[in-house]
Amino acid sequence: MANQITAVIFDLDDTLIDWSGQEIHGAAIGQRHLRQVYAYLTAQGHALPDEEDFLDCFGEVLVRLWQQAKLTWAGVSLAQVITQTLQESGLDVAQMDMDTLLRVYNWQPVPGVRPYPDAIPTLETLREQGYKLGLVTNAMQPMWMRDVELETYGLLPYLDARVTSGDTGYMKPHPAIYQRILDMLEVEPAQAVFVGDRPENDIAGANAAGLTSVLIRPPHRNYELNGSQPDYTIGQLSELLPILEKLETGRLGD
Ligand SMILES: [Mg+2]
Repeated sequence: MANQITAVIFDLDDTLIDWSGQEIHGAAIGQRHLRQVYAYLTAQGHALPDEEDFLDCFGEVLVRLWQQAKLTWAGVSLAQVITQTLQESGLDVAQMDMDTLLRVYNWQPVPGVRPYPDAIPTLETLREQGYKLGLVTNAMQPMWMRDVELETYGLLPYLDARVTSGDTGYMKPHPAIYQRILDMLEVEPAQAVFVGDRPENDIAGANAAGLTSVLIRPPHRNYELNGSQPDYTIGQLSELLPILEKLETGRLGD
């Protein structure tokens, strides 16, 4: 019997967009944005520590909160990280408007990161075939920030529903973040395919939540499966199309 797949849900980083050419790495990615927050707060008359100490504090808070969150797959938000950094820097957070600070942070695409060449053609085909398309990313940024990237890359118009772990309060593989996107797309788990590059997050979570899982293996990533068994494995996004066709027609294994 054919499965009724009506939605395809994607991870973002190293699934739809290719980080292999990133020109900024690690803590430096956030620091170039945090410097703008530092300059803003200084201009507002707040007494801040030395700029490099402030940036170091942010980096330490980020690692600490992310490590804590991973124990329960809770989702850390950028607002939490900034709030904690300001508190540990001796500032009165109650006087700050977080929405303003997040706008000043001014998240932008990371130089050298670009969409995979077959991302837009694949999404376009899936759209034409009538699939609902979603995105779930383990990212501390609110979705509106990552939408800035999606818009730059031309991916935004194709993705009907999108969530980050920072917004949701849970990260993959926690089932709650899968349920969130399924609710937004108004589909059942058995009607959805999930595509992602990290076995322990994307695939383990999709399997546990009852979605059909597809592991994508970009050439610059070589994650161990560690017991997470994907239903399908692909090397590039366009390979999804024949898999969906087989799932739809029930001719799998032919
Ligand atoms: Mg990824």
